[in-house]
Amino acid sequence: MSAKIQAIRGMEDLLPDQSPLWQRLEDHARRVFEQYGYRNMRTPIVEPTALFVRGLGEVTDIVEKEMYVFEDRNGESLALRPEATAGIVRSAIEHNFLYNGPMRVWTVGPIFRYERPQKGRYRQFNQFDVEALGFEGPDVDAEQIVMLARLWKSLGIARVELQVNSIGDASDRKAHREKLIAYFEKHATVLDEDARRRLHSNPLRILDSKNPAMQSMIEGAPRILDQLGDAAAEHFAALKVLLDEAGVAYRVNSRLVRGLDYYNRTVFEWVSPDIGAQSTIAGGGRYDALFEQLGGKPTPACGFGMGVERLLLALQAAGGESSFEPDVFLVHAGEAAGIEAWKASEKLRDAGLCVILGAGGSFKSQMKKADASGARYAVILGEDEVSAAKLTVKSLRGAGEQKMLALREAIEHIR
Ligand code: ATP
Ligand code: MG
Repeated sequence: MSAKIQAIRGMEDLLPDQSPLWQRLEDHARRVFEQYGYRNMRTPIVEPTALFVRGLGEVTDIVEKEMYVFEDRNGESLALRPEATAGIVRSAIEHNFLYNGPMRVWTVGPIFRYERPQKGRYRQFNQFDVEALGFEGPDVDAEQIVMLARLWKSLGIARVELQVNSIGDASDRKAHREKLIAYFEKHATVLDEDARRRLHSNPLRILDSKNPAMQSMIEGAPRILDQLGDAAAEHFAALKVLLDEAGVAYRVNSRLVRGLDYYNRTVFEWVSPDIGAQSTIAGGGRYDALFEQLGGKPTPACGFGMGVERLLLALQAAGGESSFEPDVFLVHAGEAAGIEAWKASEKLRDAGLCVILGAGGSFKSQMKKADASGARYAVILGEDEVSAAKLTVKSLRGAGEQKMLALREAIEHIR
């Protein structure tokens, strides 16, 4: 026997038993996004490496150490997408699909990051990615946040906290950056190796550090919120009014910065207290400079990514359950019944029902399989039924009442 081959570390299978909950989550998300006018699109999972280096910034965690990069057979450098926004913006520029005006789009699919695998953190994970392209906001920023509140409600997730911040415009960030560097230099002895490395390349990211030894120093760092210019300050104030009007509670977290270079003004995260250390289920913000950075016309935009696996953990923590539930398991006994069952199964499907056709064998073992299948009804075809041209419909829930019915009545009954 050959050795078994296992999945790659940090890349998980989604097994059939877990899938119904996953699908329920996807159905709800799709429905809510469509309610707000977001249209589905899909981009490739592989893109030129340069797209992410230019789009995300060279000194981001993702580009420095998390990307899966490889050469294809022509020697071109390609990357498995470590996020979805850059690909969507590339596509919008390439196909000029904003020529008619702004557009709301969403996508879902796998994302790849070489990170240390743990609960809520994987090397292949799935994201819903939602983007409002060509909108200056702040109404659309607020709309995205409120849309997520609606999604949590529709999924029955009650415990989730919203944090918002503004990281200002480029000029605000430049002024803040200088103050930050000066402040960190003053506290150089407390900085860890990562922070020292970032001091001049990406000091904002030091604020995001989880190192306990640096927390009180970080607490005292100059706040970007105190540096906002008038335009960014007004934008942020208006965002907060819209959230208040919608009755969506938030906490202003002046240390919230997010990992990628392309953000400006609004940033936000939705955090669950119930899923362990990797607690952000959705995060995003505004990225008004990204189109230009990727060779497009200046186009303001706002978006967020939502991690499906983490959302699933939150859903489970909230007691969410779903199981596979076909309408019918078709049990048949005897040779004549076999062919009748084959025909009946297709007729039941013609009526829109979900039907598992049993493989024959003893009546008892088939009934066991019917029970285990999760189906709502067993439809039984034996010799009696064949000679009467009827079907026995037996409920697999509750007391298990059963009736012998003609096909049309059986369909009505099951529906
Ligand atoms: P984190 O701070 O947890 O690393 P991030 O800021 O890197 O998150 P984003 O790039 O904003 O995350 O991605 C959006 C969402 O995707 C996150 O809020 C999270 O739900 C999910 N996510 C990010 N990285 C992973 C991962 N390695 N495994 C599973 N889900 C992830
Ligand atoms: Mg990360």
